[in-house]
Amino acid sequence: MHTMNIKLLLITGTLLLAACSAESQPSKPMPTTTNPYYSRTDTTPLTLANSEWKKVLPADVYTIAREQGTERAFTGKYWDFEGLGTYYCAACGNQLFRSDSKFGSGCGWPSFYEPVRKTAVRYIDDNTHGMVRTEVRCGRCDGHLGHVFDDGPPPTGLRFCMNSIVLEFEPDSK
Ligand SMILES: [Zn+2]
Repeated sequence: MHTMNIKLLLITGTLLLAACSAESQPSKPMPTTTNPYYSRTDTTPLTLANSEWKKVLPADVYTIAREQGTERAFTGKYWDFEGLGTYYCAACGNQLFRSDSKFGSGCGWPSFYEPVRKTAVRYIDDNTHGMVRTEVRCGRCDGHLGHVFDDGPPPTGLRFCMNSIVLEFEPDSK
């Protein structure tokens, strides 16, 4: 009986230790291993059919990136987030924005005044929903990211209004 209790204690102790060490680890970037097209270094444009994207993207990312969806305002993980680092495309890993260009627009979506480089994104005229807007897509995978408006702050006067779901934030290493 006595030995049983000690064994039990040991097991519980080990489990606690394991739980602690898992928690103390810095959060790693989470490129999905099921998405073979994801790369933070390869900038070769991807031209995949939506049927292929559907197999490799999480459902919420697919809805925004491939079906021009929009997350509800003030619900995404980055609209009021102020971490220092880089934002990547959640669908393909393309580098999109730096935190330096992020600003509090109050619109409920993460907003930036410029992409990290000109070719990081591409622009499409969007006349849907009775509005004349400019859609912003990822320069690598052509996935929908959001829209750009001309009411942003200096130096560009632009407001890239993005969906958190298709962004992936990586903090700067200290
Ligand atoms: Zn992309």
